[in-house]
Amino acid sequence: MSSEKKSAAAKEPLVKVEHLKQYFKVSRKATVKAVDDVSFEIMPGETLGLVGESGCGKTTCGRCVVGMYTPTSGTVTYRGKDVHSLKGKEKKEFNKEVQVIFQDPYASLDPRMTVSEIIGEGMDIHHLYMDKDARRNRIGELLHMVGLNQEHANRFIHEFSGGQRQRIGIARALAVEPKFIMCDEPVSALDVSIQAQVANLLISLQERMGLTYLFIAHDLAMVKHISDRVAVMYLGAVMELADSHELYEHPMHPYTKALMSAIPIADPHTEDTRQRIVLEGEVPSPINPPPGCKFQNRCAYAMECCHKAAPPLEEVSPGHYVACYLCQKGKEAAAAAAEEAK
Ligand code: SF4
Repeated sequence: MSSEKKSAAAKEPLVKVEHLKQYFKVSRKATVKAVDDVSFEIMPGETLGLVGESGCGKTTCGRCVVGMYTPTSGTVTYRGKDVHSLKGKEKKEFNKEVQVIFQDPYASLDPRMTVSEIIGEGMDIHHLYMDKDARRNRIGELLHMVGLNQEHANRFIHEFSGGQRQRIGIARALAVEPKFIMCDEPVSALDVSIQAQVANLLISLQERMGLTYLFIAHDLAMVKHISDRVAVMYLGAVMELADSHELYEHPMHPYTKALMSAIPIADPHTEDTRQRIVLEGEVPSPINPPPGCKFQNRCAYAMECCHKAAPPLEEVSPGHYVACYLCQKGKEAAAAAAEEAK
């Protein structure tokens, strides 16, 4: 974290998520528990990475944070105010300050609109530029900021490559001068060669504009590159949350360790000699998650207590949170917890 970010981190959280649950009824008897009791905070100027396999609930969680879904229970606060109770002027300000960059630049931009119309739409909704020249100049400035130029303003989306379209999506988000952006897998639909360029653009824009990001991804290497802290999700719950460097150097949860062991390493010798942790079994259905620890059916260390009650997300060292009895208490204490749970 930069010194600027460190001083920001001493302040109040910009976003606070507490015991968030988002359930979807899929039939008369079945309910998908997409997000099941998730809590975290995001400090001003920080990037929190939210990582996990497809279907783990990270996008649903992000959509609750930005107010796209109304949670089943729990709260999301932004600048200390409940996101889902905002009304009138406060709601309008929230809609301006909080933006989303979507995964698929092909689907998220209207093919009938010019680039200028796409970027200018938000400006017009929030009445940012009444003067036509100032509006046009600002659109040109935004295009420069994302690595395009004024000449692109009158073109249509089909004239651009995937990476360029995502740059236009970023310019659209920046047009309303946001403070917080949910980046929902912003690089996963792009060619590998373009992914790092777009990620680096997001990092430089953050430094320049003092932005705060919730960065959602399944690619752990990318999340490490861009995030200050990382939360690992599995089956709707956060399994581990720590400073990015700490998490990658000292993963503690058995699920995080398995994910880390699968990240390719550039050095061929290290890559050949390191030990991979191959997870057995399938991810259980979010309609019928197991009682106790959600990871129990795939965990090589599962104990009796793991089947009885879900381990809480506890701070095991400063700023490092883990939801695992093994990491929290050691085997003996875990056995005692099993007795307690009887
Ligand atoms: Fe494994 Fe138990 Fe830890 Fe869950 S709580 S990850 S089952 S040891």
